[in-house]
Amino acid sequence: MNISVSESLFQRAQQYIPGGVNSPVRAFRAVGGSPVFIKSARGAHVYDEDGNEYIELINSWGPMILGHGHELIQKAVSDAIQNSFSFGAPTRREVEIAELIVSMVPSVEKIRMVNSGTEATMSAIRVARGYTGRDKIIKFEGCYHGHGDSFLIAAGSGAVTFGTPDSPGVTKGVANDTLTAPFNNLDAVQQLVDANKNQIAALILEPVVGNMGCVLPAEGFLAGLRKICDQEGIVLIFDEVMTGFRLSKGGAQERFGITPDLTTLGKIIGGGMPVGAYGGKAEIMNCVSPLGPVYQAGTLSGNPIAMAAGYTMLTYLNEHPEVYTQLENSGNKLISGFSRSLAKLGLNYTINHIGSMYTLFFTDQPVTDFPSAKTSDLPLFGKYFHAMLDRGIYLGPSQFESMFLSTALTDTHIEQIIQANEESVIVALG
Ligand code: PMP
Repeated sequence: MNISVSESLFQRAQQYIPGGVNSPVRAFRAVGGSPVFIKSARGAHVYDEDGNEYIELINSWGPMILGHGHELIQKAVSDAIQNSFSFGAPTRREVEIAELIVSMVPSVEKIRMVNSGTEATMSAIRVARGYTGRDKIIKFEGCYHGHGDSFLIAAGSGAVTFGTPDSPGVTKGVANDTLTAPFNNLDAVQQLVDANKNQIAALILEPVVGNMGCVLPAEGFLAGLRKICDQEGIVLIFDEVMTGFRLSKGGAQERFGITPDLTTLGKIIGGGMPVGAYGGKAEIMNCVSPLGPVYQAGTLSGNPIAMAAGYTMLTYLNEHPEVYTQLENSGNKLISGFSRSLAKLGLNYTINHIGSMYTLFFTDQPVTDFPSAKTSDLPLFGKYFHAMLDRGIYLGPSQFESMFLSTALTDTHIEQIIQANEESVIVALG
């Protein structure tokens, strides 16, 4: 595969951009080699600067549920552009998207738009602190909630990929207010709560984790957290930046039937445009300025182009339940193909899967939390990743990421991925 144009762009990029990229995981550091520079995408495919075509399973880390360049979303964006790009003033679309999200996501009674998932989670914990008058939060090891200071403690995604789950630059004071527990461990949460009586404002988690690879909540885990939070007056926050509108119309909370107090949403609600949002119980959201004293603001929040893209995609998802049937079917077909291949090769690797999210972990341990995710053979993943890329399949370039399917994947694409996966595992094992 020729990637000479990408390589020369990467050379240039490294002179002017730290590590040559605007978000760390993109640099391929975890898997080695030079990142491919993307020029365009359509449906299930992305195309790089050298003209190579890939079937991709990143989908902008989740939002491209309907595949790239969906015609309705493209039209909505080009229509919106005719009316200028930003007003910094209220618009009709903001009302419509708020009504729509409230109707779709069980926990959300009121919602505030921001510009990224990071802003959403930072704002949600500020509100939880303002509402409860408490300082501390609990997060789970290996969960990633964006790059806000409070969350760069035992963080997943790129932070763990690059060996910096606790980032320098976060003050001790901030770090001391973030308590961490192992995912899927209710006893550990109860112990933290008991040891910090009336001090914990919020407990935040990815209800299905994408950022240590895909990790599912154990039976009863989410319900147990709901109970602890109810007993202790802790605000339960589901970070559904990856799972919202993907695992079902109402996200993981609808799928698992557990309603948090606040929900954070991200890139998906912008259909790929830079958007985030946080919402939840009216009683809590009423603390947000200008109604309440908790300050949070944004010049570009509710940006009309982003709202047009998001509103159009969410409306489509709301009106087409078959999207979710298709995503389930595609996920099931892909994973049973992978399982067949592994069985044929006599390999016992772990595949975690739910709906249109999955991770193939190069370990034979069950992966239920961060320590078990870390038993994966990372050099082997790197070899596998490149073998897949050589076969035209573009995966997230780290073991600690979930892959995301879109409705643009056909059965033929799925067969191609299954075939490439089998060959790539063989190549990786050498
Ligand atoms: N929360 C979760 C669960 C995420 O996966 C991410 C990013 N992948 C974020 C928050 C941060 O979102 P953003 O990158 O838009 O700031």
